[in-house]
Amino acid sequence: MIIHTHANADAAEVNKLAVSTQSILFYNGEHHVLVTPSKMQEPPTGFDSIIDQFWPMSSDLQLGSKTYKSETREIQLGDVTIGGKTNNTIVIAGPCSVESESQIRESAEFMKRMGITALRGGCYKPRTSPYSFQGLGLEGLKLLSKMRDEFGFTIVSEVRDATHVDHVIEHADVIQVGAKSMYDHGILRACAKTQKPVLIKRGFGTTLQEFAQAAEFVLSGGNPNVMLCERGIRTFETKTRFTLDLCGVAWLKENTNMPIILDPSHALGYRYGISDLSKACVAMGIDGLLVEVHPDPSVAKSDAAQQLYHDQFEQLLKDIKPVAEAVGKNLV
Ligand code: PEP
Ligand code: MN
Repeated sequence: MIIHTHANADAAEVNKLAVSTQSILFYNGEHHVLVTPSKMQEPPTGFDSIIDQFWPMSSDLQLGSKTYKSETREIQLGDVTIGGKTNNTIVIAGPCSVESESQIRESAEFMKRMGITALRGGCYKPRTSPYSFQGLGLEGLKLLSKMRDEFGFTIVSEVRDATHVDHVIEHADVIQVGAKSMYDHGILRACAKTQKPVLIKRGFGTTLQEFAQAAEFVLSGGNPNVMLCERGIRTFETKTRFTLDLCGVAWLKENTNMPIILDPSHALGYRYGISDLSKACVAMGIDGLLVEVHPDPSVAKSDAAQQLYHDQFEQLLKDIKPVAEAVGKNLV
């Protein structure tokens, strides 16, 4: 259950209510917000004078649920707003990894020409092998900051583990929590302490409920700016890298209040179908599309098979435009 207290509620009474309901308590700028374990369905007696409103919940998808907020959260990504009353679908693009200054500069110049406002590049890569390229770390984040300063991008970069989460929060504008890292409570709790937008990717073996609950760690720590990213789950199929769960996207749209970003690149794992999949994603009326693009994918140090060549990305933007228009979305 979520409880809002009156704006002027006595702090000692609010604390008493939090203790007696075993709640997580935070202030949202207007109200004290208490989130109790979901099995509690009614506030305890004796606190009527401080309670403004309460919402019983059917599961621990609480702050992120449509029951609590029926409209999708509005999130500011630089000059672009997504969610809320907007009909915007943001395209977030860039290479899988920042590899060198010349590579990220070439990417940045191209993205600028394409009208892309959110440049994404990983500096701490969650590789499946310790012998693969692990990312440039802080040096890569500094290169991304340079690209923001020169070109005005909103920078999206990922956190692999809690050891460098503060660096990513400091240097990036949007914190991406990777599919393999979304259960790391050190990361989630650090992301809760900033107000920067957080993009959480769904683990490939994660149920929708677990995915939504990962977001609750950030929301209940006081950061309302959380986006969910579906990037494919593991199924019996081996011809594609993962299976993009569009049924799951329908469920997230119906039940959660967070903007939804889709990542066809990691789901398919191969360049050939990214444009088709992107059309399917955009047709679902999502808030954002995340695509991996590299100046020369043949030499990419990570995810080489799935990153698009520049001309393919240019074509993709043309391909998704009529689909966005057909579903009443503006590509931004
Ligand atoms: C990535 O975005 O480059 C990445 C590693 O993705 P995921 O966490 O979805 O595997
Ligand atoms: Mn990648």
